[in-house]
Amino acid sequence: MSVSNYDVIIAGGGIPGLTLACGLRGSGLRVAVIEAQTEVQVGDRPRAYALSPLSARIFRAIGIWEQIAPAISHFPQVVLSDADYLHRVVFTPADLGEPAVYYCAEHRVLQTALHHQASTDPHITCY
Ligand SMILES: Cc1cc2nc3c(=O)[nH]c(=O)nc-3n(C[C@H](O)[C@H](O)[C@H](O)COP(=O)(O)OP(=O)(O)OC[C@H]3O[C@@H](n4cnc5c(N)ncnc54)[C@H](O)[C@@H]3O)c2cc1C
Repeated sequence: MSVSNYDVIIAGGGIPGLTLACGLRGSGLRVAVIEAQTEVQVGDRPRAYALSPLSARIFRAIGIWEQIAPAISHFPQVVLSDADYLHRVVFTPADLGEPAVYYCAEHRVLQTALHHQASTDPHITCY
């Protein structure tokens, strides 16, 4: 029986687990990601995520933003209002120094990009 040694073992290869694994790239740590479901099952989850500018920064930092950008929707503004109150608060990209106030991405887009990024790194093993 062969034995593998890892410094970090991540239980669950969904978006958060793979993002953590990709964030550890370049650290020198040997990382294992253990996912109970098949890649197809994990990729098939019918969800979309509203991504904050901070999430966008994380995805840029781990190197998948360029790949997912064509499939990302941009929210040009967010308006906070209340039915009984006359005033509104409007956030625009200029307020945040970002191209958009918020982003939206389908699960499959993120999952595919993250899985590819993680599984092509020699220090990360996806099970
Ligand atoms: C419809 C929907 C829309 C959402 N929209 C948003 C959004 O817009 N913005 C946002 O921030 N969040 C959103 N979320 C929430 C987001 O999906 C979750 O907060 C996040 O995915 C939770 O991360 P997690 O790692 O705990 O779980 P998951 O992403 O579910 O990942 C857990 C993984 O662990 C695997 N697993 C479970 N048990 C084991 C085991 N024993 N061994 C190995 N693997 C195991 C599972 O198969 C799964 O792949 C949404 C969720 C849903 C359902």
